Amino acid sequence: MLKPTFIEKIRGTVGPENVLMDEESRVCYSFDATSYTSLPDAVVRPKTTDEVSRIVTTSFEESVPVTPRGAGTGLSGGSVPAKGGLVVSMERMTAPALIFKEDLYAVVEPGVTTESLQKQVESRGLFYPPDPASRSACTIGGNVAECAGGLRGLKYGTTKNYVLGLELVTPEGKVIRSGARTVKSVAGYDVTRLMVGSEGTLGIITSVTLRLLPLPAARRVFWCRFDGIAAASEAVADLIGSGLVPSGLEIMDDKTVKAVEAYLGDEIGAGVLLLGEVDGSKAVCDEDTSKALEILERKYGREVETDVEGIDPEALWKARRSVLPALTRLSPTVILEDVTVPRSKLPEMVERIGKISGRYGTRIAIFGHAGDGNLHPSFLTDKKNRDEMKRVGVAIAEMMRACIDLGGTISGEHGIGVDKMPYVKLELGEAGCEIMKRVKRSLDPKGIMNPGKMFDET
Ligand SMILES: Cc1cc2nc3c(=O)[nH]c(=O)nc-3n(C[C@H](O)[C@H](O)[C@H](O)COP(=O)(O)OP(=O)(O)OC[C@H]3O[C@@H](n4cnc5c(N)ncnc54)[C@H](O)[C@@H]3O)c2cc1C
Repeated sequence: MLKPTFIEKIRGTVGPENVLMDEESRVCYSFDATSYTSLPDAVVRPKTTDEVSRIVTTSFEESVPVTPRGAGTGLSGGSVPAKGGLVVSMERMTAPALIFKEDLYAVVEPGVTTESLQKQVESRGLFYPPDPASRSACTIGGNVAECAGGLRGLKYGTTKNYVLGLELVTPEGKVIRSGARTVKSVAGYDVTRLMVGSEGTLGIITSVTLRLLPLPAARRVFWCRFDGIAAASEAVADLIGSGLVPSGLEIMDDKTVKAVEAYLGDEIGAGVLLLGEVDGSKAVCDEDTSKALEILERKYGREVETDVEGIDPEALWKARRSVLPALTRLSPTVILEDVTVPRSKLPEMVERIGKISGRYGTRIAIFGHAGDGNLHPSFLTDKKNRDEMKRVGVAIAEMMRACIDLGGTISGEHGIGVDKMPYVKLELGEAGCEIMKRVKRSLDPKGIMNPGKMFDET
């Protein structure tokens, strides 16, 4: 319960119309794309860094929990206000990006969606590669806080490879700037890198300086169907082992393909789908596509189809981006995991997931950024079915152990949030977790910034 004097101060900072306390509004900010929920006491919608700073300063003085929020598309419960208090929504911080073409960077407010930024820079002949499948809704602030990946990780890396600098409000309400607008900067500790992927637990990002690239002249899509996911995942290792670096290489198993077909009402074709994209000059695209074709035909006897006949590459990527909404129509609860292994271990990981599914009688659809070794095995279940949920829980724990066994990570791009908290020690160990908790305590001495996430401090 927030004190009336506290609320008055917050209203005085952002205006009463930007402090939402009615139940309907609080419910709208109580969840993300997982099934976790927790009601905030109030939702605040600042417009400027100064307002964010004053909100956080007041919250620090009164020890009120603060949870930063972008669009709420997160897949680990990160923006769910686990301990109540304030949700600070960045939805009004959406000014057009400042684009510096000669210096190849842009300065962006955190509430701008990824797709909007991409369109803004592309209209100037520039390119912002990170491309989460949720790009039409998710925000740059949320992308930085989660270190979002997406469909182009294989060639272009993830959000962390593009953040040159940040402006942020610390848990005590101070405004600091990290990094620089230059290609190089080694002045002091790399606070920027620490903040990327910190899931809103170390401060609120109020401005992001992002590195840009020249827009590639051409793109070409290719796709190939397989009878089973094992062969498709072997093909991924073969393609990459050959020296080919597609900008994207995505896998969708047969359950996923059928779900997307039903969702879009379009035929994609039977079997497991491997969908790739190459980019660069037209000559490079042609050469790379021929190379992929040769490998896939020679070793697997599979015909590779490409977009030469004038198929819009976006139509195929739309199918890939529709996977999650499509799967949610198959069962009341979809638990989407994010295991990532070294690419050469992909076939073994897929095999282990198959065995785990059989052992616990769970339905799992597999899709993901295969070129990054990043799979999203999605448990199709019903949270009301207690017996099944128990089996799903055991199966997930086993899958996490399998992934660590293979030298992988429990989360490639969705973060820890609430969802992966039980497994974080498995990867980081006791001492590794303790170091991170010390960092957290030193920056957030009262523990007000997105509490109840990443590490269990209770
Ligand atoms: C259909 C679908 C497809 C997806 N595909 C991908 C994908 O391909 N790749 C991928 O990586 N992810 C994907 N995601 C997950 C999600 O979209 C990303 O994690 C995204 O970065 C979250 O952005 P958001 O604005 O929705 O953040 P939110 O969900 O609102 O918040 C996410 C986290 O960031 C923190 N945060 C938000 N804004 C700020 C800020 N300004 N300062 C500090 N902390 C902040 C929050 O506290 C929270 O911990 C997908 C999700 C969906 C629903």
